[in-house]
Amino acid sequence: MRKQKPKTILCPLCKGDGLSKQAKKLTDDFNNFRRSSYTIVGGKKDGPYKWSDKITDAEVKALVKEGRLRQFTHESTNGHYNFKLGIFPKAEVVNEAQRCGETEDGINFFHDDINERILVKFRAKRYGIPYECRKCHGAGEVEKLTNESFTKLMMNVG
Ligand SMILES: [Zn+2]
Repeated sequence: MRKQKPKTILCPLCKGDGLSKQAKKLTDDFNNFRRSSYTIVGGKKDGPYKWSDKITDAEVKALVKEGRLRQFTHESTNGHYNFKLGIFPKAEVVNEAQRCGETEDGINFFHDDINERILVKFRAKRYGIPYECRKCHGAGEVEKLTNESFTKLMMNVG
């Protein structure tokens, strides 16, 4: 008999986004678009806490390492991006651009989903909190227990 791929269902713990509760809170707070009712790290209750325009120099470095922030590190000549040697943006410059929606040079700027993910992951690590959901390990879905797999599981116990 051919082995069937196990059926999966949406992870009941993270509801499919694959994030830990704490990482979800960091994500919700990033742009403050969605109000979050989660309890912040350390048991302290916090209201909406936007931090997309309050990133640190270390976080800027993490973004540049991932090839992000090209608006600051590269200059465009005839549609080609060339690395500006020695230019490393300070956090306050990036934060100001995030607030204004453009850089000092008038180039459109905002942190996209990719930046957001990098920053949340980085900050979660710094805070010592898990990034991925502990049930599905970031997959967003878990194996569905069928009658057959349930029986198998029970037979293997003890
Ligand atoms: Zn999950």
